[in-house]
Amino acid sequence: NTYTRLLIVSYRLPFSIQPTDDGPALRQNSGGLVSAVLSMAERMGQQPGNTSTKIHWVGHADASLRAVEPALLENESFVAHPVFMEEAVHKGFYEGFSNDLLWPLFHYFTSYASFNERDFSHYQQANTRFLEELNALIEPGDLVWIHDFQLMLLPDMVRKAIPSATIGYFFHIPFPTYEIIKLLPRTWRQVLIEGVLGADVIGFHTADYVQHFMHSVSEVLALPIIGHRIVLADRSVSVRHFPISVDFTKFNVSGQETDVVSTRLRYQRLLRHNKLIFSVDRLDYTKGIRYRLQGYERFLLQQPDWHGRVALVMTVVPSRDKIGQYQELKREIEETVGRINGLFGSIGWRPIVYSYASLTFTELMALYTACDVALITPIRDGMNLVAKEFVASRSDQAGVLILSELAGAAQELQEALIINPTDTQEVADAIEQALIMPKQEQSARMEQMRCHIQNHNVFRWSHDFLNAFDNVPGAEPDLE
Ligand code: UDP
Repeated sequence: NTYTRLLIVSYRLPFSIQPTDDGPALRQNSGGLVSAVLSMAERMGQQPGNTSTKIHWVGHADASLRAVEPALLENESFVAHPVFMEEAVHKGFYEGFSNDLLWPLFHYFTSYASFNERDFSHYQQANTRFLEELNALIEPGDLVWIHDFQLMLLPDMVRKAIPSATIGYFFHIPFPTYEIIKLLPRTWRQVLIEGVLGADVIGFHTADYVQHFMHSVSEVLALPIIGHRIVLADRSVSVRHFPISVDFTKFNVSGQETDVVSTRLRYQRLLRHNKLIFSVDRLDYTKGIRYRLQGYERFLLQQPDWHGRVALVMTVVPSRDKIGQYQELKREIEETVGRINGLFGSIGWRPIVYSYASLTFTELMALYTACDVALITPIRDGMNLVAKEFVASRSDQAGVLILSELAGAAQELQEALIINPTDTQEVADAIEQALIMPKQEQSARMEQMRCHIQNHNVFRWSHDFLNAFDNVPGAEPDLE
């Protein structure tokens, strides 16, 4: 059993073609998943007899990659394999079944879920397109790692096409209770669960998501479960939780970079009289932005002493804003921000400094390290990396994290001020508690959380996942 190559499959290819001195070249983005798989490939590459450490990545790419010559789809670390599909199929698969059904349903927003047979058929067709791309590529000895809810059917498709394949599957969003799964038409829920069971190892962020999945497996397919294994006719599937994380060192050291320092100083000058509360999330109804604003408004109502001395710096990152629900959410957020600023603000003071924009890494780091409080209030979130990035950034051991108990990250970051976002009084109280928290208590809480993330970083996550396969070379019992 020598796994010679790592094949990653995710909905989106994390690459772009960018100009360099030697002409256009393939560049990977700097996301956590990219660095995690890079380090995993290095680990596999250290095995005797393993010469190829290039990672193959299969994913959807927009039409701009269609015109690119094959030689450009490769760099020193990666080979990109773009999957193309008909526009109508992509729309039904991605915007329809994935974002309009699975996303709201699995985040418990049942009334936002739209059940559409044609979307389901496009979802099946799209997963088949990924299979075709993989089929042309896969060789004996490859380890195939499939990611996320857009590709739930793919593990079983690969298993049927190549019975001996080694397949991992990781689910990046919450896996909900069976009562939610039961809302799916009988055939859909069956096909989706059978789909992921094609894998040898299935990973979720938390032990709760694992339990929910196991319950659904026994209700929908009546399969025997022994410990963390689901027993099939000819093999078994291991289901475990592997909380995803961040590159601790990168966030820990970047606060000292010159451009981060100068950006931080600029922000501090601009907002000089204020304590800073910071939040950033994609525009999404799961992120609890409405409740956050309600909690902050309540705080301002109850604590007039803080007027003129605190600012909520709230950045909402554009996302899916062609969809009606998201446009409506954006409108509502902006109306509320305007109302709160109108109600409490004055010539010299804006209670909320709002922007609807993407941040550069430098800007994000500057905000993580400039703020006094990070206010993270999702109503449902598979993990929430922003919480972990904030903690990892605070090499000064200062700052307070207010975190919703409905984020997967709350299972690990127990020294945060844990709140329920729908309880706006609790949010208002936590804001006050955070603003007056003594330095010593801040640093005691930070130290514990930082220690946890340092040990449970994104490299640990990918290595633990790799270790969960039977007899995989490169697996090591102790990774730290
Ligand atoms: N992020 C980003 N652009 C920004 C601000 C943040 O790409 O303008 C990153 C952030 O650093 C984090 C990710 O987006 O790594 C958000 O991950 P999270 O798990 O918090 O939420 P998701 O958006 O995946 O639901």
